[in-house]
Amino acid sequence: MSFEINMLKNFKTILTNKKILVNNIYLFTFKLQDPAEISFIPGQYVILKVPKDGAYISRLYSISSSSQTKDTLELLVEIIPNGLGSNYLDQLEINNGVIFQGPAGLFKLRDNNKQKVFFVTGTGIAPIRSILNSNLKSPASRGEQISNPHLKSQNYQFFWGLKTFKEVCLFDEFKQLAINNQQLSFKICLSREKNLDSIPETDRQYFDLGHVDSCFYKLATSHQSLITNSDFYLCGGRNIVDSLRQGLLTKNISTDNIIFEKF
Ligand SMILES: Cc1cc2nc3c(=O)[nH]c(=O)nc-3n(C[C@H](O)[C@H](O)[C@H](O)COP(=O)(O)OP(=O)(O)OC[C@H]3O[C@@H](n4cnc5c(N)ncnc54)[C@H](O)[C@@H]3O)c2cc1C
Repeated sequence: MSFEINMLKNFKTILTNKKILVNNIYLFTFKLQDPAEISFIPGQYVILKVPKDGAYISRLYSISSSSQTKDTLELLVEIIPNGLGSNYLDQLEINNGVIFQGPAGLFKLRDNNKQKVFFVTGTGIAPIRSILNSNLKSPASRGEQISNPHLKSQNYQFFWGLKTFKEVCLFDEFKQLAINNQQLSFKICLSREKNLDSIPETDRQYFDLGHVDSCFYKLATSHQSLITNSDFYLCGGRNIVDSLRQGLLTKNISTDNIIFEKF
């Protein structure tokens, strides 16, 4: 751990865009000033330095942008009422200066031939967005070389848990990514909807009812290799990640094949 901390750099940035995606979920874009670029492994996070009483308090946020875009950072953030970091981010205005440290964290893709299955909830999608846009053909690739060509050919499936259809964001982006990359498929799993009637018929294939794990097991019963030949990447709130992990262990999936990040 101390080794990791020693490697952290300070990044001076300015806020260049603050976009509300849905409810209290925002996409923040920061332009790097000094240094002018950042290199990171998709899945890693940065540490936001929140000024308080003449000092700084740290809050961690996963990088949500592609690792091929080095001059800006995107963060996907849920603004929690009265949260320290949330209030700070909420009150930021365009061109305000913001300091980050990083990059840090060990949540990253394993370079092997296993299928990559993601169980994520809420803003847990943030690092997965970075992983997918960094390794698949996407507008964010800007035609540049994919960092690891081997990972480009892997199969990716993500199951994203949200409560209701009204909470869905970034759908068009992920749909386009799946259309451009045959090896990517996804389900947005709605735990509090009774049916999918409010979703346009052509988009229903990307949705399911229930929690992420039940949506996955429904598919896995007809595709056993999904269980036996996958690595599982879990990301979201602490309790949900713990419970998803327990569920996978009871299916005899080895701890070696479960990689997780708890928010
Ligand atoms: C590795 C890592 C990566 C992370 N990446 C992201 C990310 O990409 N996007 C993101 O939005 N968050 C992310 N988080 C969570 C983030 O670091 C903060 O914990 C979160 O933004 C709340 O901080 P805050 O200062 O606003 O609230 P705090 O001042 O820390 O908390 C205020 C109150 O809100 C409660 N609270 C904290 N979190 C929640 C919650 N989710 N829902 C309801 N109540 C809550 C606390 O218990 C406390 O009572 C990540 C956390 C980790 C550890």
